[in-house]
Amino acid sequence: MSASLFLKRSVKTAASIAGIGNRIIRKHDGSVHVLAYHRVVADIAKAENEAIYGIVISTETFRRHCELLKQNYEVVSIDDAAAFIRGEVRYSRPVAVITFDDGYADFYTEAFPVLRDLGLTATVFLPTGFIGADKPLAHDRLFWLLKTALESKTSVSNGLERAGFVEPKCDRLLSKGRLLDATDILVHQPDELRERMIAELELELASVLRPYPTEYRLLNWHQVSEMAAAGIDFGSHTVRHVVLSCESRETVHFELTQSKAELESKLGRSVNSFAYPNGKVDEDIRFAAIAAGYVSAVTTQTHTNDQGADLLMLGRTSLCEESTRGILGTYSRNVAALRLGI
Ligand SMILES: [Zn+2]
Repeated sequence: MSASLFLKRSVKTAASIAGIGNRIIRKHDGSVHVLAYHRVVADIAKAENEAIYGIVISTETFRRHCELLKQNYEVVSIDDAAAFIRGEVRYSRPVAVITFDDGYADFYTEAFPVLRDLGLTATVFLPTGFIGADKPLAHDRLFWLLKTALESKTSVSNGLERAGFVEPKCDRLLSKGRLLDATDILVHQPDELRERMIAELELELASVLRPYPTEYRLLNWHQVSEMAAAGIDFGSHTVRHVVLSCESRETVHFELTQSKAELESKLGRSVNSFAYPNGKVDEDIRFAAIAAGYVSAVTTQTHTNDQGADLLMLGRTSLCEESTRGILGTYSRNVAALRLGI
């Protein structure tokens, strides 16, 4: 299979894993445009090979996005945007929010310096149980394990079955090179099952498995505190980055309340915003977020957020390096302007 075919399919599947939408939002004075990023990397070629494709953007492209945003929008935190949507504050220019999901360590090394240089804020949604822990998120570990299986032509069915998951489709997808489709199936499972699958696949692949890339690591609390003091805003992204629609009511409650409490104790202020992992939300989960005390929550649906919009269902435009490449395969200012709603 050619590389370009693989990339096209990857972007499509990344829509499910990272929430990459194709809809375009046009800015106008009465609405809030929320942008969603995951990782900012110095070496985009390496990252696009080693990471889930639709979640990485180069530092250079991110800076270009930020410059366009600064020129065209009032860039505010999600809490300030919520106040604007409620009609409590006004801005003279259209409003945008820069959000980051997952709290990767490269936010500190790559994104934060750009934001600080340009005097912009951003809201970063953290899975609190992984902050400062030396363990990548489940979706990154599953991706790496399946990538290893694909490259070494090892079957994953036996390992998955030992974990209690009978799914022959994964091997079939891997044999066709459809790594992200296979990852997507395993990510959208209850967290206890995901961790059992990871443990079994680590055993199954032990002879060929290389350590998880250091680039998968997340922020630590020291970095979070330093950036909070410098004007970066933080919200919750659960404790373990669980897919809430796959979990019990009790687990949903725990993930929402525990992560909020931990962030508030670490930051010494109230935390009012939340990002639904993988964008998975239904009416019960939305109510649980309200009951846990959140004022606003972001999804991965691409839509405008007009005044009076449902603050617990805010739409976002997801962006990665591919989002603003032109037909030549390199950064295109015109495409960027379109994606950023300018
Ligand atoms: Zn996430």
